[in-house]
Amino acid sequence: MPSRISTTGEHPRPPHTTKRDESLFRKIPSVDLLLSASSFQELTKQYPREAVVTALRSDLQALRHRVRNRRLPESEFEHTLEAVPARVRAALKSRFSPSLRRVINATGVVLHTNLGRAPLSPAVFDRTREAGSGYSNLEFDLAKNERGKRDVHAEHFLKNLLRCEAALVVNNCAAAVLLALNSLAEGGEVIVSRGELVEIGGSFRVPDIMRKSGAVLREVGTTNRTRLSDYQRAINARTKLILQVHRSNFKIVGFSEQPALEELARLAHKKRLPILEDLGSGCLVDLREAGICGEPTVQQSLKAGVDVITFSGDKLLGGPQAGLIAGRRKYLHLLRTNPLYRALRVDKLTLGALEATLHSYLRQDERNSIPALKMIFESPEHIEARAQQLMEQVRQQSGENSQLEFEIKKGVSVIGGGSTPGQEIATVLIVLNSPAHSARSIESVLRNQSVPILARIEGNKVLLDLRTVFEGDEENIVRALIDLSRPLETKTSSQ
Ligand SMILES: *Cc1c(COP(=O)(O)O)cnc(C)c1O
Repeated sequence: MPSRISTTGEHPRPPHTTKRDESLFRKIPSVDLLLSASSFQELTKQYPREAVVTALRSDLQALRHRVRNRRLPESEFEHTLEAVPARVRAALKSRFSPSLRRVINATGVVLHTNLGRAPLSPAVFDRTREAGSGYSNLEFDLAKNERGKRDVHAEHFLKNLLRCEAALVVNNCAAAVLLALNSLAEGGEVIVSRGELVEIGGSFRVPDIMRKSGAVLREVGTTNRTRLSDYQRAINARTKLILQVHRSNFKIVGFSEQPALEELARLAHKKRLPILEDLGSGCLVDLREAGICGEPTVQQSLKAGVDVITFSGDKLLGGPQAGLIAGRRKYLHLLRTNPLYRALRVDKLTLGALEATLHSYLRQDERNSIPALKMIFESPEHIEARAQQLMEQVRQQSGENSQLEFEIKKGVSVIGGGSTPGQEIATVLIVLNSPAHSARSIESVLRNQSVPILARIEGNKVLLDLRTVFEGDEENIVRALIDLSRPLETKTSSQ
């Protein structure tokens, strides 16, 4: 079989290169000549020369390929050749753009897992800058002038806030559950109600994480009803732990029953077993004023007698991604000294961000300074006033024959992110309608802005919920809506 690899370093031309191809190829300037043109000179100032050369070579190769495969009519050749600099510029721009970008969340889902859950406040970044841009006492005890431990930092605030004996921080709540199960129950049995064998988004399933932790799942009760006696009967010599999992993202309603946490804790302690609660959402404040009922707080669970509790940093707590663990010192000591902790621990930026978040709670300023809580507690009246103002701005600037109609409608926001299932907060929505565009195309124009705007579609209408939109981002929405309101032929490209 003849080798397809050319010894000259050039790709061999397929045998079917024609005279026409040859004459078109001759019109393509050399890489060196193109690089000396002013458009490319400019690009080499902006990007490394090597990257420009690579992008240019690959564009020219694609061009030759299209010629040879008859995918480029001769009439379009000149035009395509002229567009080489523009294509190379676009390719470089895309190659050098970060993949993680900011977006505007107009969906009204406060803790949107796909959109990064809790947004963080500027104060949090002041602390992470302080902790991360230079050196810090991350693992150094300044008072004793000796090696220290990183787990003391957020623990200090958590003990204060939760009135618990000890606290520990790992990468996320899934990691917290894995570490707790492995440290407290490896090789033994863990009793869980069948109604709590949940799956949290992103394939976190209680039975799977249990298997990975090396503990054996002992299911009790039924999907809808589990009684204290079910737990009692399941306890045996191999039992190491009782686990309760918060049903963060669904509800069991109707004919259902489960023992109160206090009762379960009392049973565990009578049998000299620890009780672990995976709370997930990690709420520290009373949400009733926002119209959310029945969301348990971390403090309530600890008060009920739970020995170890796990919850997320970026759900209702409103901080960075982290898994928080709080409870009895003797159990947390087992977690801290487990080799898995070393693999699951957090970095200094997370600890800085978490301390800044917890500091808001200590100051009792959380409703003002934690963006997620501020959004949750924002009143529908205030959201309506913002919506009216935004629509007025668009109306004034889009003039006579606007292609966009607005309407204001009462609706609901949700907290999301695997918390407060089935609960909604009253809000006011902007409903967009256009004779010129379908809901899908309005949604797509918004999503393709330079700062993407993500909206909700319901029944062929695009809805914007300003609850989750920062006031500073409203002008981006105004600009996009003005663009959408123009008659099609005069529309500028959406920036
Ligand atoms: C969200 C959630 C988790 C997973 O938390 P992450 O921080 O996303 O890892 C675990 N358990 C419960 C009950 C949850 O609600």
